[in-house]
Amino acid sequence: MAEHEIPRATAKRLPIYYRYLKLLLDSGKTRVSSNELAEAVKFDAATIRRDFSYFGALGKRGYGYDVEALMNFFGEILDQDTLESVALIGVGNLGQALLNFNFHQSSNARISAAFDVNEDIINSIQAGVPVYAMDDLEDQIAAQRIEVAIVTVPSAAAQELADRLAKAGVRGILNFTPLRLDVPADVRVQNVDLTNELQTLLYFINNVSLPADK
Ligand code: ATP
Repeated sequence: MAEHEIPRATAKRLPIYYRYLKLLLDSGKTRVSSNELAEAVKFDAATIRRDFSYFGALGKRGYGYDVEALMNFFGEILDQDTLESVALIGVGNLGQALLNFNFHQSSNARISAAFDVNEDIINSIQAGVPVYAMDDLEDQIAAQRIEVAIVTVPSAAAQELADRLAKAGVRGILNFTPLRLDVPADVRVQNVDLTNELQTLLYFINNVSLPADK
């Protein structure tokens, strides 16, 4: 659908809204207020109302939001009905864990192809996902219309791989390596540096004291 640009922070909250609305609908609830939503998803009500306002006036004063309409609306934006095929490259410890996880619950994405250089696992099925040789990368991406790739190879191999992925038509990369990838402007990279996340948490725990009354 042709939508106007929405803030990145809002876009990141959409799947959370969607999942919660689905839960509400499954439990038979037909309407919800921004305050109730705020309590459940832990964003403040003003943020929620502002997020929703980007999509036009969806709520009615004194009534709140229609759960099903809102859920369908976000579902459409998130393209929840089409299952997005995702590639995973590098079936090491982390890659294997992500294959096992496979984003199945309330998600519109699933890993449909994995790739590695390790002959021991090429042509095997890992957690229900076929592992291909790196030579098959471009062909599989084209055949399965894959637009998103998860990168869990060693850092040293990541840039070369990103170049290949971009050339093959991949539009989004979930990068689990600490390396900052250089990609063309039409490719989006989301970095997930788990070590860094843990270090940040440890830093706050050890260096930032809580207010005295907490
Ligand atoms: P991690 O815990 O980070 O997944 P690991 O110790 O299991 O790491 P790594 O050496 O980081 O293994 O490699 C991750 C995976 O990437 C391995 O399965 C390895 O065979 C694979 N790999 C290494 N180089 C390449 C490459 N150039 N292209 C594709 N896969 C690669």
